[in-house]
Order: sequence, then structure tokens, then C-alpha cells
Amino acid sequence: MKRTLAVSFALYLAVFLVPLLAGGKLPAPVETAAETTPSPAAVPFAEKPAPSSPPVSPSPSPAPPPGYTITVLVEGTPEEISLRGFLLGAVAAEMPALYPEEALKAQTVAIRTFALYAQSRPYHENARLCADWECCLAFSPLEGREADWGEQYEEYARKIEAAVDETAGVVILYEGEPIEAVFFAATDGRTRSAAEVWGGEVPYLQSVGSDFDLEFANGPRGHGVGMSQFGARQLALRGLGYEEILKWYYTGVEITGA
Ligand SMILES: [Zn+2]
Repeated sequence: MKRTLAVSFALYLAVFLVPLLAGGKLPAPVETAAETTPSPAAVPFAEKPAPSSPPVSPSPSPAPPPGYTITVLVEGTPEEISLRGFLLGAVAAEMPALYPEEALKAQTVAIRTFALYAQSRPYHENARLCADWECCLAFSPLEGREADWGEQYEEYARKIEAAVDETAGVVILYEGEPIEAVFFAATDGRTRSAAEVWGGEVPYLQSVGSDFDLEFANGPRGHGVGMSQFGARQLALRGLGYEEILKWYYTGVEITGA
């Protein structure tokens, strides 16, 4: 017993005094716990990073962990789909795969953010989102695109996988929360504010210039709020990265995890 205490005390010295001598600060709660029950508290503390390492943010990261799944309503049936699988299928269904990589990345981050936004505000009673482009957004598994893409399948699938994997964990935030990252095909030179189209003020969904959309062959398509997909293409062709594209269309946002 005495020996155990002595070992505990030595451990206590090693764990607390060494960082202290090195100029580290003692974290108050652990210090208090160590005074009353030295050995149990000393062990978990010893596993923690040294006090000199950068402080850990108290709020959890908005980035979804690997293996994260979401419930999506597919033809009326709720399906549990991995976020990665959902992103691959949704990006492929929402944006032409021949668009530049940075436009595909902007699209990916918008959809990932939209899916996280829907976690706290589900669009459906029994599912976060649905796979209907007229309601939530278009989605069909990437593997099913082989018939449409034919010889281009491998190339397009690789482009979309790169867009999803190279932006893994990247999310658009406004005041620390994932935004409702809506988007549409093309507009007539400017986007519309949410207030103008849906009647509710949303600080990050304001009207912005998008005159390169005038080159879109089929005229304005969609509600005009948020990111223009064709505009994202045009900005990417002008050399903008996906973060700059997202900041162009979503007012006052920050991009985290990039
Ligand atoms: Zn829906």
C-alpha cells in the first residue's frame, strides 16, 4: 500500500511538476482531483497531451466523422446511406461531371453542408432529406451512372470521388452553424435573396452578381437562391478555387475543415 502511494506520488511529480518546470500551466480541474485522489486522476491525465500543446476548442467540430450515415427518403422509403455514398450520388446527379473539378468540389461542400443543416432541421418526418430534385435534391447511386456515362464512366466517377474525398470534412458555416446551402442551375445575371423568393430574410442568402450565367445556353433555371451551378463552373474556369466560389455565392460565410 505504502509502495503504491509512493509510486503514485512519483507519478504525480513526473506528470505535474515536469510540465510545470517547463513553463506549462496546470489545468485547474485535474489539479483539484489529483489532490484528493492522486492515482486514478493521474493515469487519465498522463494520457492527455502535454499542457504545452494548443488548447482544444470546447465546441465540437462540425465536420462529420468517417462512417457517418444519414437517412434519405428514396422513392418513399427511408434509407440509411453513408454520407460519402450520398455525396457521390448527389453530386453526380446534381452537376454535370464534365464541369471543372473546383466547381464539383463547391457542389460537394454545398451538399455536405445542406445534409448537416438538415440534421437539426429535417425536411421530412422520417428522413433528413429526400432524393427528389423537385423537393430536396437529386440523388442516385454513383454505380448506376454507367449507362448514362458510357465510356466516360471511369473518368467521371474518379472526378467525383476526388471532389468528395479531397473536401472530406469541409463545411460552410455562418455564425458557427452549417448553412442551408441551396443552389440552382443558372440565373440571369444575379442571384436572388431568400427574402425575395421565399419571403424570409437569411443573412447568407443575399443577391449577388452572376453575369457569367448569361452564357448558359438554356436561360435561367431554378429558384436563383444561393449558388449558381453554371456560375460555379464559370468561376472555376476563371481560376477560382472552390472556397472562393462558395464565398462568392454565400454571403459572409466561413469554410471550415479545408
Ligand atoms: Zn424532400
